[in-house]
Amino acid sequence: MAYVAMARKWRPQSFSDMVGQEHIAKTLQNAIEGGRLHHAFLFTGTRGVGKTTSARILARTLNCKGSDPLHPCGVCDSCKDISGGNPMDVYEIDAASNTSVDNIRDVIDRVQYPPVIGKYKIFIIDEVHMLSTGAFNALLKTLEEPPAHVIFIFATTEVNKVPQTILSRVQRFDFKRLTMEQIRSRLRYICEQEGINATDEALNIFAEKADGSMRDGLTYFDQAYAFTGSEMTADSVRSILGIPPVELFFSLIQAIENHDLKGCFKMVDDAVKIGIEFTPLLDGFGKFLRNMIYSRLEAFTADDLSITEELYTRYKSCGQSISNGDLLRLSKMLIDLQAGLRYSTNPRLMVETTFARMAWLDRLTDLRRALAAINDPKSAADEALKKKVAEVAAAVDSEPPPQAPYEDPFLNYQGTGGTACFSRYEISAAWPSICAGFADDGDLMFSAAMAGTVLETGDIHENPFPIALTYVGESENNDSWNFQSLQEHPEFIARLQTILEDKLQTKISLSVKTRAYTEAERQIQENAKKSPYQLDLDKEPILKKLQETFAAELVYSVPIKRDKDKETFTGTDENNEN
Ligand SMILES: [Zn+2]
Repeated sequence: MAYVAMARKWRPQSFSDMVGQEHIAKTLQNAIEGGRLHHAFLFTGTRGVGKTTSARILARTLNCKGSDPLHPCGVCDSCKDISGGNPMDVYEIDAASNTSVDNIRDVIDRVQYPPVIGKYKIFIIDEVHMLSTGAFNALLKTLEEPPAHVIFIFATTEVNKVPQTILSRVQRFDFKRLTMEQIRSRLRYICEQEGINATDEALNIFAEKADGSMRDGLTYFDQAYAFTGSEMTADSVRSILGIPPVELFFSLIQAIENHDLKGCFKMVDDAVKIGIEFTPLLDGFGKFLRNMIYSRLEAFTADDLSITEELYTRYKSCGQSISNGDLLRLSKMLIDLQAGLRYSTNPRLMVETTFARMAWLDRLTDLRRALAAINDPKSAADEALKKKVAEVAAAVDSEPPPQAPYEDPFLNYQGTGGTACFSRYEISAAWPSICAGFADDGDLMFSAAMAGTVLETGDIHENPFPIALTYVGESENNDSWNFQSLQEHPEFIARLQTILEDKLQTKISLSVKTRAYTEAERQIQENAKKSPYQLDLDKEPILKKLQETFAAELVYSVPIKRDKDKETFTGTDENNEN
């Protein structure tokens, strides 16, 4: 027995079979029953939602000689004539390939002859928006004064291209895209009738890929059925339709999380080996990222996403160290990749390098870029924005960074070759630790020339950013040996400029100056003479708070050394028994 495609075999035969367009079926049925039939209809909607099928059902219903005015009997002369290959009363043309005036003249010629078998002569013009202007004009006259036995049914996917003169003379019906549930339940019904064993997940794949079109859903279903026979699993359906298995994406997200380039390349290779093309691969990954975000935020349930609870839990728990912000950045990179891919001569390389960049989504790089953006006043040309940036920076500055007692906040500085960088607001404060790095690097002359200096910064919005390397002493006439050392090595200035520009990620104008201590600095000099107890009180906020709250007096303090490698405290205190 010849194989009949499911799409044809299960094409709806009456309005009650139509899925998803109940509003149209109802209106048409009411018009038929009430005898208020329009002579021209326009069916609009996206492809595969049942426009042409509905046109044929309408033609059959109107011409049926059976007793039920709403359901064609299928056995009368007219029904038989229409279901045969070349019906006498129904004339169907595809305007996509018959756009000319002559094609329409042929239609108009036929209009004048009465129907042979049924009550009406019915003209179905598919893709009517494709007709030329001349053809539309020729049609218009007939539409204005049609013979009583003539009915036109136009169908179009692009109603905006149909002239207003035509639109004003037809009764318009808007066909809806089908929901996944509507497609799935129709396929489920066909499976039951055909004795096909299909899992829910398999039917979901058709419903999703169909993207609102019942015809596409049935086509995919047919395609899969030809290979799987009556046992349809999700895996077999995916492999036949070239849809990447979700496991590929779980391994990709894991590779990205672990900065595992090899894992990223392997995923691409695995996909290519099982015949997945890049377009569905990237579409699938986009959907995967979306599902990750949705399930993390619990914005949608497993049901809403048409996935199993088990898969939902896996989405929710995978890639834990990838933040929601990073997920959005990955999505953005993916969208850029999809846009670029169609112009690429080497799509595989492009996909691989983008996945590699995703795996090396380096926070530091972005931080440097962000700092540079804040530092560059040109990027904040808007005064309000500039002000906002300054406010935020000031707020960040006023909040002391969390730190262990006695530790320098910039102790994480790596030396001149290190990667730490600073904003304009913090460069002065960071300067002592940057200087300490020079000594570590072993260039004692340069280190000595910088020792004891202060960095003074000018207007934060000025470009290049003004910085003065300042030698501070008892008087403005500084004759310290480190200042002399700088004068003997004028090349140190250029070197310092390079270092600072690297730290700040912006251009600076560097000057050198000398001055006497300010009052505040003298106070610091005074502090240097204070007792260690007093300094402890000043330095350690908890001690100060104890003193204030309980009027406590510090009588004894033990320095606690922190063993950095073992993360344990090795200091002992015999007095802490109570
Ligand atoms: Zn009939």
